[in-house]
Amino acid sequence: MIAPFSYQALPMRVVFGAGALAKLPDEVAALGLTRVLVLCSPEQEDTGRAVAAALGERSAGVLAEARMHVPVEVARRARGRAAELGADGCVAVGGGSAIGLGKAIALEHELPIIAVPTTYAGSEMTPVWGLTEGGQKRTGRDLRVLPRSVLYDPEMTLSLPAQMSATSAMNAIAHAVEGLYAPDATPIVSLMAEEGARALAGALPRVVADGSDIEARAEAQYGAWLCGAVLAATTMSLHHKLCHTLGGTLDLPHAPTHTVVLPHALAFNQPAAPQAVAALSRALGGASDPARELWELAGRLDAPRSLAELGMAEADIPRIAELAVANPYANPRPVTREGIESLLRAAWAGEAPAR
Ligand code: NAD
Repeated sequence: MIAPFSYQALPMRVVFGAGALAKLPDEVAALGLTRVLVLCSPEQEDTGRAVAAALGERSAGVLAEARMHVPVEVARRARGRAAELGADGCVAVGGGSAIGLGKAIALEHELPIIAVPTTYAGSEMTPVWGLTEGGQKRTGRDLRVLPRSVLYDPEMTLSLPAQMSATSAMNAIAHAVEGLYAPDATPIVSLMAEEGARALAGALPRVVADGSDIEARAEAQYGAWLCGAVLAATTMSLHHKLCHTLGGTLDLPHAPTHTVVLPHALAFNQPAAPQAVAALSRALGGASDPARELWELAGRLDAPRSLAELGMAEADIPRIAELAVANPYANPRPVTREGIESLLRAAWAGEAPAR
C-alpha cells in the first residue's frame, strides 16, 4: 500500500547534454542578467576564465577562491567582490565547493545562481547551504540559494580524475540511499533515487576505466542530477549525520568520507528499511545485500574503503560516536552509541560491512 505523503516540487530548470555549456549565454540572458560573477576553485581557474570569456560583456569577472565547506571568510570576501563589481548574478562552475560559494552569496545578496557542475556531488539541485566558521559547519535550507538554472554538460567532467569521479559519485549515491528510507520519502522521489543509483553504479566502472568515455560521463551526470534532486526533497539520516560529524570534527575529506561510510551506514539500516533494500537491489543489478555490493563497488573502483587511510586516528572513534548520537534525528533503525561505535570501527579498519 502507498503510505500517505505530501510532496512539493522544486523549480528545477535543467539543460542537459554534451555541449550544453554553449547555451550558457542564453540562460544568463533568459534570467535577465547582464553582469554575472563567475565562481570556481583555484584549481579550475582556467575553466572559470574560459567560461567568462564565452560570456563576453555579460561577465563581471572571475573569482577563483572557492574552498571546501565554504569558510566564512571566503564567503565574506566573495560577497564584497560581487557588490564591488556590481554583479547581478553568479555562474558557479565546479563541484559542491564552487556552488556552495554561490549559495553563500545568494543567502545574503539574493543573487540568482546558474550552476555548471563538474563533479557528481549534486549540490546544484538543492536549497541546502553550508558555512564553516571556527571549525564548525552550519547548514540550512533556503530556497533563495537554489540555482535557477543548471547546465549539465558531460564534457565539463572529462577532466575530473578517476578517484574524484568515483568518490563524488558515491556521495551522490548516498543521497539516493538515504532518500529511500527518509521519513519524508515519496513515491516520485523514490523513483528518482532508484534510477539515480542505477545510472551512477552502472556508469562508474566505465568512467574510471576510461575518463574520456563521454557516454559513461553523461550517464553518471544524469544519475548525479537525480540523486541531487533526492537530497533536495528529503531529510537525511544516519549516514549524512556521521559524515558531517567526521568532516566537521576531524576535517576528513568530504567525498572520500562518504565513500567509506556509506556501505556501513546502509548495512546498519538495512534490517529496518526493507523497501529501500528492494529498490537498491534492483538498482545494483539484483544484489541481495546492497551495502555489501556498494563496498565491493568501491573496491573495484579503487576508491578508499577505510577511515584510517583518510587520516582518522582509531582513538577518535568513541568521540565521533558520542557526537553522532548527541542530538536525535530521524533514522529507520534506532541509533545507539554501541551500534555507531561498532559501525565506525568496521569503517575505520576497512572491513566489509556487517551483515
Ligand atoms: P569540490 O567542489 O570541493 O571539488 C574538489 C576538487 O576537484 C576541487 O579542487 C575542484 O576544483 C576539482 N574539480 C572539480 N571538478 C573538476 C573537473 N571536472 N576537473 C578537474 N578538477 C575538478 O568537490 P565536491 O565533492 O563536488 O564538493 C564537496 C563540497 O560540496 C563539500 O563542501 C560538501 O559539503 C558540498 N556539498 C553540498 C551539497 C549541498 O546540497 N549543499 C551536496 C553535496 C556536496
